[in-house]
Amino acid sequence: MSHPNDPKLKSFIDVDSTSDFPIQNLPYGVFSTPDSVQRRVGVAIGDFVLDLAVLESEGLLKTGAERCAFAKPSLNAFMALGPKAWSSVRAQISEVLRHDSATLRDNAGLRKRALLPRKDVQLHMPFAVAGYTDFYSSKEHATNVGIMFRGKDNALQPNWLHIPIAYNGRASTVVVSGTPIVRPQGQLKPPSAEVPSFGPCKRLDFELEMGVVVGGASQMGTRLSEAQANEMIFGFVLLNDWSARDIQQWEYVPLGPFQAKAFGTSISPWVVTREALEPFRVQGPKQDPQPLPYLQQASANNYDLHLEVDLRAAKAKQAATISRTNFKYMYWSSVQQLVHHASSGCAMNVGDLLGSGTISGPEKDQRGSLLEISWNGAEPIELPGGEKRTFFEDGDSLIIRGWCQGDGYRVGFGDVEGTVMPST
Ligand code: CA
Repeated sequence: MSHPNDPKLKSFIDVDSTSDFPIQNLPYGVFSTPDSVQRRVGVAIGDFVLDLAVLESEGLLKTGAERCAFAKPSLNAFMALGPKAWSSVRAQISEVLRHDSATLRDNAGLRKRALLPRKDVQLHMPFAVAGYTDFYSSKEHATNVGIMFRGKDNALQPNWLHIPIAYNGRASTVVVSGTPIVRPQGQLKPPSAEVPSFGPCKRLDFELEMGVVVGGASQMGTRLSEAQANEMIFGFVLLNDWSARDIQQWEYVPLGPFQAKAFGTSISPWVVTREALEPFRVQGPKQDPQPLPYLQQASANNYDLHLEVDLRAAKAKQAATISRTNFKYMYWSSVQQLVHHASSGCAMNVGDLLGSGTISGPEKDQRGSLLEISWNGAEPIELPGGEKRTFFEDGDSLIIRGWCQGDGYRVGFGDVEGTVMPST
């Protein structure tokens, strides 16, 4: 039996070479349909969703657990079964969907119940977020922001090359793609004002990030090795860390962002597994100075993952691509982030979400936030149709896409989209 990542595998379902969801991917999500509103776990394949709750109840999918794992409104129960179960289930799903596998292919009744057109399903939050931590691991992004906020000589703080910097964010406002984002209100104190005032954010921004979905737990008081951290990563999602720059600039000293980041974080509905991304692992940038021993890596823990950002202005029909970059540029890897997160003895939980930090590349057109793209408002971007933007206006939409390119197929994430609504 060939491995589910084998590039030669074909499904009996036609999948275009530009689809994000070939048989080599098999990402997990949570969905419902108008006929059956109960949320359950499914896998995306081409233009369809495979209902895993149906397969499990038919005895076609074995997780090794006594209780069902897929007739559930989140992936958490399945994730808690651990990496051996993840791998085994993915192999079973791959087998069921192969072109030469008759079980589902030749059973019209089962196909009708288990394979649903993707356009007919509603996608929900794929997992219950236990905790949300946001890192700051792109050297290019940290340098750009540092230059804007503190000047060229103090761009990177002295600790940045030694610690994967992060803050604890809010799990309560992580939402699935398509959820509108209301422009936040907060304390603002522009440099020209003598005293702060409270009102709608005027510098609303996005941050292009990947999210790590932690599928394992660690005990309070224990640390993680590189191998243990790697094994605990269930998969990845696209993530937009909505940011209120004017609130942030006034509040961030001395404890870091708080309300500037607490009002909304959008994620893509499909969780692409770490296993599906294995063929796309690459070495990250050289780390100089060498990190402390507990952060040193024996493996290539970065991914060659293309990212694109579109902005659709309120009245425009068409979206404009405003950034193209790659996850491979990240200075600190997700594994290093997780190792560091547990390094004090901090317990990690099934369902923890780690934001990578804004992903900016070395070039100007590879920047992952409006703050950088418009250089803090000094260089507005011109959109097709002649409109200009420094930060978001009400009605604007932001769309992030991401994929790894294989030979004749791609392992993709779909997209994460959010539209800005007026303050209430
Ligand atoms: Ca962020």
